[in-house]
Parts: sequence; C-alpha cells; structure tokens
Amino acid sequence: MKNINELDMLMNFSNLINSASDIFSIASNIKQYYRGLKEFNILFYDYSSKKLKDVINNFSPIEDMYDETAIGVLYSNFLKLSNCDFIIDNKEYYKLSFNEEISSKVLLIPLKMSDSIYGMIELRFNENKVYNYKIINALNIFANQLLLFIQNTLLKEKLQLNYDFYDSLKNIAKIIETQYELNYIIPLIGEMIDKFVSNHLIYIFIKNGSEYKLFWPNACRDKGVNELIKKLKTDYLISEDRKIGIFPLITEKEILGCIVAHSTIDKLTPDDIEYINQLTKQSSITIERANTYAEVLKHATLDALTGLNNRRQFEIRLKQEYASAKRQKHSLCAMMIDIDFFKSINDTYGHAIGDKVLKSVAKIIKEQLREYDIPSRYGGEEFCILLPQTKIEEANIVAQRLRTAVEKSVVEVSNEKESQNKKINVTISIGLSQLNKTDIADDLYKRADRALYEAKERGRNRVVVYEE
Ligand code: GH3
Ligand code: MG
Ligand code: MG
Repeated sequence: MKNINELDMLMNFSNLINSASDIFSIASNIKQYYRGLKEFNILFYDYSSKKLKDVINNFSPIEDMYDETAIGVLYSNFLKLSNCDFIIDNKEYYKLSFNEEISSKVLLIPLKMSDSIYGMIELRFNENKVYNYKIINALNIFANQLLLFIQNTLLKEKLQLNYDFYDSLKNIAKIIETQYELNYIIPLIGEMIDKFVSNHLIYIFIKNGSEYKLFWPNACRDKGVNELIKKLKTDYLISEDRKIGIFPLITEKEILGCIVAHSTIDKLTPDDIEYINQLTKQSSITIERANTYAEVLKHATLDALTGLNNRRQFEIRLKQEYASAKRQKHSLCAMMIDIDFFKSINDTYGHAIGDKVLKSVAKIIKEQLREYDIPSRYGGEEFCILLPQTKIEEANIVAQRLRTAVEKSVVEVSNEKESQNKKINVTISIGLSQLNKTDIADDLYKRADRALYEAKERGRNRVVVYEE
C-alpha cells in the first residue's frame, strides 16, 4: 500500500516537470512532498570544463560547495554510473529483479540518454528506505524527464546568449553610421561588451607610440593586466590562471590597442574567448573606419549628423566674429545649449533614436535662428551659437523662443516591437553671455558655458544669462 502511494507520487513528480517554470520550483516541490527525504541534489556534468555542477545552486561547480572527500566520492560515483543503473552506498547495481529489495539511506540515479551520461541525482533520506524494481523504474522515468528539462533550459540560455551576442556585434558595427570620434565610440564599445559579458571586467586600451594607454573605463588597478599587455603580439593572450584575456584591436597595418577581459569568478571558457575575440574583431573594424572617416572629415566644415558647423568650423567662425565685433565695435553674444537628460534617452531607446533626437533639435535650432546667427555642434549633445550684432536682451528673447520650441516639439520614433509609434519629448538648457571689452575670444563661450551649468543646477529647461 505504502509503495503504491510512493509510485503515484513519483509519477506526479514527472508530471510536475512538464508544467514547471524552472528547476528550483521542481526541486523545492520534491523536497516538500517526498516523505522522509532529507536532501535532494541534481548534479550535471559540464563536458567543456570537465566539472560536475550543482544544478539547484545555479550550476556552481561542486568544488565550491563540498569538501575534498565528498568531491572525490561524487566524481568516482559519477564514473561508475556510466556503466550501471544506480548506486546505493557507493556500490553499483544493475536492474533489480522482480522480487528483489534493497534498503539504504542514500541513492544515486544517473541522468542518462541514449547511453550517454549527463549527470546524476542524489536522494538522501532520514532513515533507511526500501527500494524495489518499481520504485527504481519510476525514479528512472523521473530522471529522464528532469534531464530533458535541464537540457531545454540550457539550450534556451544558449540561444539567448547567441542572440545577445549578435545584437552586440550589430550595435558595434552600427555606431559608425553616424559617429567617428574615438572619445565617443570607445566608451560605447566598452559598454556594449560589458553588458554582454557580465561576469568579466572589460577594459579598452589604445596604443600611443609603443605604450598601451587605458582609454575606458577610468582606472584599471590590476597589475596582472598591465604585465600581460607587454607581451601582446598579433594574437590574443590568455593568462596562466585563465582569468585574464587580452585581445588585440588590430588592422592589416597595425595594432590599435586591445580589449581586456578579466573574469571575476570563473576562468574564461572557450566560449567566452570566442565571443570576446569576435567582438574585438568587429570593434577593430569600427575603430579603423572611424579613424579613416575622421581623416576625411578634417577637411569638412559641417557636422555629418546635424548639418550644423562642426567644432573646427566653430573655432574659425568664433575668431572671425570676435575680430569683426572688436573692429566694428558691435556687440556679440554666445549661446551654449545642452540637451537635458540626454543620456537617459540613449539608455531607454538606444543610440540610433538618440541620434534622431539630436537631429531634430538641430533642425529646430536652424529654424528658430536668424539668418546671420551661426549655429555649431560643439560636441556630443551640445551646441554653441554665435549671435553677431546682438545685445544680451535680444539674445535672451531668441534663447527663450528656442527653448520653448524644443519643449513643444515631439520626436516620433517607430518602434520595431510595438505597433504604436513612440513620442519623445526633450528640453534644453541654455547659457548666455555677451562679449566684454577686455575679453579674448574664448572668454565669450566659456562664460556662456558657466551660465549653462547654472541653468542645469537650477533645474534645467531654462535660460540663464551669465553674471559676474
Ligand atoms: P544633463 O545634460 O541634463 O546634465 O544630462 P545628460 O544626460 O544630457 O548628461 P551628459 O552630458 O552626461 O550626457 C550626454 C550623453 O550624450 C552622453 C553621450 O553618450 C551622449 N551622446 C554624445 N554624443 C552623442 C551622439 O552623437 N549621439 C548620441 N545618440 N548620443 C550622444
Ligand atoms: Mg552634455
Ligand atoms: Mg545633456
């Protein structure tokens, strides 16, 4: 009678697996409902690292969880299980015959499929327990289903990983469509790789003469990294403990720098290395193209994304307007504009949409200004506008008009995932200044920049006129 109940229960466990969402809920149900069960472990053999991993504990290697003796016993039992049907008290058994019974507290059942072994389950009971062929049979069916469940889970994770990987690759390739400044591109590449390999610290070094200089993030306190970099040639290097990987950013002609991955928990697996290697190759192409692009644009006067004057042209126009204002004793004003919370637009919608917002703000600037005003893209999401023959009061009116126009505008972006288009609102902060008699040219926009800072401090979406 008792045995029939146990069989029913085991069959229920098998059914439970079909509707379970994760392995933890399966394990906790079994622990709760299997009478007399003290411990329940699922161990899965990872053929690439050659380690048994504890499935219920997030696939941690058993080396992190048990003492040496226990680990030895587990591995030797795992080996034995590939040639037998179950293990009781460290002894191998084959199928029980019809009326055979064995009693013990501990039972090991293999996770097997078409003659290959993938792991085992371990059941520990409070007291000695009797097993017959029916119970062992039911446990085998249960083990089979459990194995399928685990393999499905792993497959899903791998697919997701692959998907994230191709997404990162695509994004790194895409940056270059609109950007060519390394100051902007490299942190983006760093962040994308960082997001993809969350268990590793990522560093990007750029070569300066014969030295590698850390470019992203701000600090690398790791001596091991700096030592290993010195040995870098054209192939990637992995440290002896396999925790540091150095991947050269390389073109046909030269080494541009390197991407470093430093694992914080496990060793770098062959998969990790392959993924980071691919991402580094894509990054090399992106950086090389950015360099070429920057070279070409040295001779350009307009910014490629917004069509406004670029930074170089801004410097030239500033000198001209300064000289002319001095000579003709005209007033000259400068307006520094910065988009509010722009980083969060990038973070929420992605950089392509961020670029679209930038373009749209630039367009409004062009529309609102007078013909003789000189707008430039000063940097990232900052604009500087020179207003010749303009007094500060007039400049203030222009600035307020501009600020309101941006506030009222909406940028519509189509969303691949949702059918409805998104409407994005942005605001800008503006700092204003006027040229003084004793000024040199740079004073003008530096003061506007300080006023802009003040506008941000006071809560953004406002205009502040510089005051001493
Ligand atoms: P606030 O100015 O209100 O203080 O906040 P913020 O979020 O705008 O601050 P911050 O100046 O730190 O962020 C500017 C961001 O603009 C960071 C950078 O990634 C992004 N950015 C700079 N240039 C570009 C670009 O050309 N395209 C896109 N999409 N983003 C850019
Ligand atoms: Mg800014
Ligand atoms: Mg900003």
